[in-house]
Amino acid sequence: MALVVQKFGGTSVGSIDRIRNVAKRCLAAQKRGDDVVVIVSAMSGETNRLLGLAHQVAPVPNAREMDAIASTGEQVAAALTAMAIQAEGGRARSLLGHQVRIMTDNAFTKARIKAIDASKIFETLKNGEIAVVAGFQGVDENGNITTLGRGGSDTSAVAVAAAINASACEIYTDVDGVYTTDPNVCPTARKISRISYEEMLELASLGAKVLQIRSVEIAMKYQVPVHVRSSFSDAEGTWVVGEESALEDVVVAGVAYDKSEARVHFVGLEDKPGVVAELFGQIAQRNISVDMIIQNVTASSNQRADVTFTLAKTDLARAKPEIEEIARSLGTQTVRYDEDIAKVSIVGLGMRSHAGIAARMFRILADEGINIQAISTSEIKVSCLVAAKYTELAVRALHEGFDLAKVPGSNAPPAIAK
Ligand code: ASP
Ligand code: MG
Repeated sequence: MALVVQKFGGTSVGSIDRIRNVAKRCLAAQKRGDDVVVIVSAMSGETNRLLGLAHQVAPVPNAREMDAIASTGEQVAAALTAMAIQAEGGRARSLLGHQVRIMTDNAFTKARIKAIDASKIFETLKNGEIAVVAGFQGVDENGNITTLGRGGSDTSAVAVAAAINASACEIYTDVDGVYTTDPNVCPTARKISRISYEEMLELASLGAKVLQIRSVEIAMKYQVPVHVRSSFSDAEGTWVVGEESALEDVVVAGVAYDKSEARVHFVGLEDKPGVVAELFGQIAQRNISVDMIIQNVTASSNQRADVTFTLAKTDLARAKPEIEEIARSLGTQTVRYDEDIAKVSIVGLGMRSHAGIAARMFRILADEGINIQAISTSEIKVSCLVAAKYTELAVRALHEGFDLAKVPGSNAPPAIAK
């Protein structure tokens, strides 16, 4: 007998029929002898609809009221799911964030969980009831309803699993696992059987949207095994687990891409101490987050440097006038913008122990005639900025070049030059 958390995403509870399916799945787990805690998202499309209503009333709606509205989607889904379990002859009780007491800070629309009181959940289970918890929502210390950011019910699920010390957190979704890359771009993409928290974190932050990033951070911190799987089949999905668990024997676990960023190029800044500090200090003050940064000194021109950085396209739209102002205040010669870019990345723990992975990536892109505009690396990731029109080509070439379609384990990983 185990204690399991099952989380169902928007499509999995997208209709009454699907909610009935969810009810059957929870009851089946309970019949096997497990104690079941269910976390639900709002029915698919519902959160967008609710946010849309708010925007019709106010262009920039009040954040507290926004959360009061947005959280209702999960309230409805939780109650419907509990009813569906009851209709199947089972016992269930819905619990909202404030009823469980999922305590958060007061950062409306992007709140962080501070503590979860597990007693209501345990009490419910002790009664033989399935606890159906509304995802995405919590309560701050003043009793205000908060939400955890888009995709936040993943985080609710993993945090609840950690709080009740569940043996696993199953994330039921409309895909059957985490893939080596986007199957829509690369038909040979393969479902990964096991991946580490670290790799998943990188893939999630690079735009692989299976799990909310925060949920992976919490899973890693509390060592909650997460099983991403389809709510429409019984097939095993992808386990996201600690590094010490047996992982796939690969150097590169996945290829990700992100078209959501734009590039800003400051041409002809003064090359002296403090200029870059001033530039990014001003940018940070305006709450603009940047991703990649490159600086290079123009050899030919006297004491001038160029700085390139990337930021979210949505931030660029908002911040262009401010960027122009910063450029003027620093005596920049010109500012150029490029929105037709994409960041293509490879991720894998194996990079720690294998040299030459980055070089191989650059060679693969070069062989396709793709120019690299910027590079950034971390211990387990290499990202290249390329023209957006080459995204798909780059992803496919890297997927093939690193042999990601091949089921690992059957053979030793490809030899890498040291
Ligand atoms: N319903 C919320 C959203 O659409 C939370 C979630 O689905 O995880 O973002
Ligand atoms: Mg989601």
